[in-house]
Amino acid sequence: MNNNGISKLNLKRINRSEILKIIIKNGPTSRIEIAKRINLTRAAITIITNEMIQEGMIYEKGEERGNEKNGRGRRKILLDINANYKFCFGIVFDNQKVSIGLSNLKGETLDKASLNIGAKSIEEIIEEIYNCFHEMLRNSSLQISNIIGIGVCVSNDCFYLLNGKDKKSSMQLLKKMLERRMNISVVVNNTTEGLAIAEMTFNKDYKEKTSNMVFLRYGYEIDAVMVLHDKIYHRPSSDSNWFSHIVVDTKGDYCECGKKGCCRTKMSINIIKQKVIDLYKEGKTPILYENTNGDISKIDFTVENLKLLLSDISVKHLYEEALEYLTYALDNLITVIAPEKIVLFDFVFEKILDLESLITIMKREHNISFKDKIKLSTIPMNNIYLAGNGLCVDKLFIEVGGE
Ligand SMILES: [Zn+2]
Repeated sequence: MNNNGISKLNLKRINRSEILKIIIKNGPTSRIEIAKRINLTRAAITIITNEMIQEGMIYEKGEERGNEKNGRGRRKILLDINANYKFCFGIVFDNQKVSIGLSNLKGETLDKASLNIGAKSIEEIIEEIYNCFHEMLRNSSLQISNIIGIGVCVSNDCFYLLNGKDKKSSMQLLKKMLERRMNISVVVNNTTEGLAIAEMTFNKDYKEKTSNMVFLRYGYEIDAVMVLHDKIYHRPSSDSNWFSHIVVDTKGDYCECGKKGCCRTKMSINIIKQKVIDLYKEGKTPILYENTNGDISKIDFTVENLKLLLSDISVKHLYEEALEYLTYALDNLITVIAPEKIVLFDFVFEKILDLESLITIMKREHNISFKDKIKLSTIPMNNIYLAGNGLCVDKLFIEVGGE
């Protein structure tokens, strides 16, 4: 038995993985810079990267801009990941739909589709995914051998489909079922983590890539992920949605978790809807009342109608109040972990009150100016499948050194 550390093959994988991570995080990088960052000699890096170039996973992108020269007076050649070296599938179960996308290693979409879940069983859905998968391969003239695998993400509202005893076992079950049917590697995670990974992997604005980030989903669902030192921080009890149970009002109503005034009781979209309905009953919403002819069942809460909803000052106030509570939770996170970025996905207020309102409230309530910190996610809601593609590229390409 050889216990003298890591085998040669593993070492090669680890080195390759480190190189890929550096390029993903910083964009095209020179060999000398890579050597500096992972503390290997330039000669070693040259051997490893030349092999990776031969295999096609990275390529020489050209010379670094500017006049900076290396020791021998030559310009540095930048190495980048070959986006079309391999491809992957992303599948996301979210809000009663399954979104499927085929992308390259940089998250550029080749094909996408969406299936309704309705009353279908998981077996029926997997059959539809199977057909979709092969149709997309044919349309793109790709073979199974061009695909590194499938990244699958499941949102909280879809776990019921899987019948596992908890989320973790449900995800393992789904992985097994898909691997058996599709005959390809599958990785599964929850959607918010997948989205955060995709944000870190596919964002091409390398200046925006940070080591510490809070990734917040605030749409029909509230959930968040903390990224600390480039890694997702996992709490020991991973099942609970920690962000929605941050207390923002000590005098608030009881939450299902037993505490008072958690985020979800103060700012979830369903709570706001209920408050609008309560207001309506009291006749404090003249514009909304007129537009629905006094019929409460006609209130349209879809995003397209939000602007109209906000025409009544009383309703607008409810939304602003929710944003105010959001700033309390964010203030606490900023104080504790000092993230360099706070990224918002599916930010429902973006369509009605915009990011500026949030920045203004943060300044007013907490005297914190976080204009440079807060960003909207680069992943649009209708490309949510990229959460799966990001997960797949991270786990089945970068982590394993491109194998
Ligand atoms: Zn709670």
